[in-house]
Amino acid sequence: MGNPLYDRLFGIHAGKHTPFLHLPDGQTLTHADFLDMSSQIANALTGYELEPGERVAVQVEKSPQALALYAACVQTGLIFLPLNTGYTTAELQYFIENSGAKLVVCDAAKQEGLVPIATAQDARLETLNADGSGSLMRRALGMLPAFEPVRRDEEDLAAFLYTSGTTGRSKGAMLTQDNLLSNAEMLAQEWRFMADDVLLHALPIFHTHGLFVATNVVLAAGGSMIFLPKFDAEDILRLLPQATSMMGVPTFYTRLLDDDRFTGDLTRHMRLFTSGSAPMLSETHERFEARTGHRILERYGMTETNMTTSNPYDGERRAGTVGFPLPDIELKVTDPETGADLPQGEIGMLEVRGPNVFEGYWQMPEKTAAELREDGFFITGDLGRVDADGYVHIVGRGKDLIISGGYNIYPKEVELVLDDQPGVLESAVIGVSHPDFGETPVGILVPEPGNTLDPEAILSNVQNTLARFKHPRKLIVLDALPRNTMGKVQKNILREDYKDLFK
Ligand code: ATP
Ligand code: MG
Repeated sequence: MGNPLYDRLFGIHAGKHTPFLHLPDGQTLTHADFLDMSSQIANALTGYELEPGERVAVQVEKSPQALALYAACVQTGLIFLPLNTGYTTAELQYFIENSGAKLVVCDAAKQEGLVPIATAQDARLETLNADGSGSLMRRALGMLPAFEPVRRDEEDLAAFLYTSGTTGRSKGAMLTQDNLLSNAEMLAQEWRFMADDVLLHALPIFHTHGLFVATNVVLAAGGSMIFLPKFDAEDILRLLPQATSMMGVPTFYTRLLDDDRFTGDLTRHMRLFTSGSAPMLSETHERFEARTGHRILERYGMTETNMTTSNPYDGERRAGTVGFPLPDIELKVTDPETGADLPQGEIGMLEVRGPNVFEGYWQMPEKTAAELREDGFFITGDLGRVDADGYVHIVGRGKDLIISGGYNIYPKEVELVLDDQPGVLESAVIGVSHPDFGETPVGILVPEPGNTLDPEAILSNVQNTLARFKHPRKLIVLDALPRNTMGKVQKNILREDYKDLFK
């Protein structure tokens, strides 16, 4: 039986002096170096007397040690629970209490504030800093670099990943070994990752994108990563020549395109660019192709399911779509009210089923029951449709749907029209409560650099394109849309800011 996740992602590289992490200071950690580090941490964790299945809450900066802590949790059967580095101490309290973590690992700068929270929880508190220093590694460095992985099977829980909290309070998604493993091995194959691949890794490792999609796929293939602490266009431009592939959120690509030094020559040797975590504008896809000749491969997934659809590696990568359901993953479109299957082409709720779908939300049985059907389909909360060629189009989140005077308005449809207006860089359409219509659409516009917008002129333009009930009642110009670290537009913030517009 062994420990499938450890054996197949990490253990297979035992003793290999092949590169795994290329660090900004020029150092390279081999697979063997990395496994030594993770075994030392596993030995240190064992000394804390935790039982397999207990949670390790981790809020630390991105570093090789932080990644090795993930591997060590897999080795010891502990549940790895990474947390966004942006969370404040008050926010951390919720995650630590909700998860019942018995070990909390934090940056030394956060330690003092966390002492009372950890104490109340009877949890141990250790530190791990960006440079690898801190109490965890102090202990680990004195340990043997060998550890016999604790036996686990594929159904055992490996990680709790809290959702991004875009639509409400973050929920702890319980992920099994097989959820992670099946997705990693399948994506490595679908996207043709090989041992000679070098992935430019500038994503955070507290989110499914940078942790599971990027890292697990590279581990499954035996490749290496240029492991950057964060996205910085300077670093990307400098290091691209050494990479074969890059995974990003849409904002990575728009920022690169805004830089004249980002040229076709710089990317000619690249094999693959992927995008996800937030919708990418077709315009970005097209600009990227015009500049570099590469068509970005957009895919779709979420904390609860890892990846569920992807544009094809071979074959047409269609802008504005997230491609086809991945192998072994079923996707259907249902009526959000009744749950009944809808005919091909209609917009409805996206539901998915497969080995990737999580076990449920930790300590939220009602939410789990509401979103995870007994037959295994997960109700994603995203609205979309499948076109005649089988490509999946996402039209937005169910919670962003605007119902005005009894009519459904999909914000994306209005946003696409607004985005096309001269001088508009991007837009967000939200529902704002209105005395007559219940809710009414309001458009937030961001001008292209150096442009000023005339909302009245734009309003009269869009009136020719959109049915009357979809006309934004008001257009507001902002310098930028509020986004979280994954580049997701935070419509909840916009709705809050403009909730009294028609009162
Ligand atoms: P919460 O569930 O707490 O509200 P969240 O859904 O934003 O937060 P994540 O699991 O990080 O948390 O994000 C998954 C969501 O991101 C998807 O449900 C979808 O709305 C969006 N998403 C991911 N990839 C894409 C994509 N390629 N195109 C459009 N949306 C995407
Ligand atoms: Mg979600």
